Amino acid sequence: TQQREPPHVAIVPTPGMGHLIPLVELAKRLVVQHDLFITFILPTDGSSTKPQEAVLEALPDSISYIFLPPANFDDLPEDVSIETRISLSLSRSLPALRDSFKNLSGSTRLVALVVDLFGTDAFDVAKEFGVPSYIFFPTTAMCLSFVFYLPELDESCSCEFRDLPQPFKLPGCVPVHANDLMDPLQNRKDEAYRLVLHISKKYPLASGIMVNSFFDLEPGAFKAMGEGKEGKLPPIYPVGPLVKSSSDHGTDGSESLIWLDKQPKESVLFVSFGSGGTLSHDQLNELALGLEVSGQRFLWVVRSPNEKSANATYFSAQSIKDPWDFLPKGFLERTKGVGLVVSSWAPQVQILKHASTGGFLTHCGWNSSLESIVYGVPLIAWPLYAEQRTNSVLLADDLKVALRVKYNDNGLVGHKDIANYARSLIEGDEGKLLRSKMKELKDAAEVALSQEGSSTKSLAEVAEIWKSHQK
Ligand code: UDP
Repeated sequence: TQQREPPHVAIVPTPGMGHLIPLVELAKRLVVQHDLFITFILPTDGSSTKPQEAVLEALPDSISYIFLPPANFDDLPEDVSIETRISLSLSRSLPALRDSFKNLSGSTRLVALVVDLFGTDAFDVAKEFGVPSYIFFPTTAMCLSFVFYLPELDESCSCEFRDLPQPFKLPGCVPVHANDLMDPLQNRKDEAYRLVLHISKKYPLASGIMVNSFFDLEPGAFKAMGEGKEGKLPPIYPVGPLVKSSSDHGTDGSESLIWLDKQPKESVLFVSFGSGGTLSHDQLNELALGLEVSGQRFLWVVRSPNEKSANATYFSAQSIKDPWDFLPKGFLERTKGVGLVVSSWAPQVQILKHASTGGFLTHCGWNSSLESIVYGVPLIAWPLYAEQRTNSVLLADDLKVALRVKYNDNGLVGHKDIANYARSLIEGDEGKLLRSKMKELKDAAEVALSQEGSSTKSLAEVAEIWKSHQK
């Protein structure tokens, strides 16, 4: 009789809106297109779960969710890296996860576990219940290639990667300098490096890996991973771009959208650093001045500055101090009518979709990058942390849809440069090229997700394997 019960999938996202959002899109597709039932099981780090709850509550009935009790971090120093905190949130929640799994597998026909990039420690729990484990990799095929390569590199190289003279040339990928690798790989003595290495070594144990990218976006990397390792890698399924749909936002963003309605076509530069990105006070000033001097229209999601870290709001997605008072004196008055400044959070997808938006100054979080591709908006790439520098290499050097910012001798992106980037992107010839390249990617993304498209087929393949799973 158990086989007649509907197939059920457990999804375990690690903390961070950027992890939850694409997994929610994945869940919606699995429910609508493949009649699966889903339970999200969420490890937490003690930060407010409100932003996550808001997303999860809006989902259809066949998707339910449970928050696990917060992991204890009393023993960690305050400045511990986000990667360490994220991966420990999961590994310290394994006993609670096991309890949830027990309940779920007792009451449903559990056919698969899906974790995100930091979740491989949960494989052991799934195994105890005879359930196969899959990874949903929420960033690029290029980064995934690097994850597979890391254990080998760790053994063959004894120095810091940034001391290697040559850029890395992974099969099928554009060359990338060690400085542009993800943060945990910048210091091999850090706990985060050890954790990422530990997690990477478990990737080959997955029954399959879904990637939030699509074949035609990164054909070289996907091909190389498909062919390269003679069956040593799990099957890789490009299933993207899975991005938030524009109907998901409430009315809270209406101020930005009403303002955009009044601007000319493709004239506005949207400026935002994702859910976690923060700038130093000096850098924020340069950005404000740059936008002002550029004379371009802009819509800027401002967060209060932070001197210590570029990802100060990662776990809360909220501005820590109310903005405005730290902006240059008179900035708001001088830019009135030309620019709109909003605090902390904006309906990004609707903004990118809006006809008045002509460019996006982004931190290159992969969700933001994919959303720009889906709506055909060219970029100024200003990466801050995590794997964002690697993403910017792909966007600027390989796909050629972004201008990448350069830092001056003071370690800042100067206001004159910012003004130049803004002008080039919105009204310059370079912007025209980037925009037309971005429109090609937009079309390719649409094809990948169409009924017969490559990503639709990949996901269907995974769903069929799950549905036929027998204990
Ligand atoms: N986002 C949003 N409004 C904001 C900031 C972010 O809707 O003001 C959404 C954005 O559309 C994207 C996600 O939050 O879906 C951010 O994910 P990304 O991977 O770009 O960056 P992260 O926040 O993880 O650094």
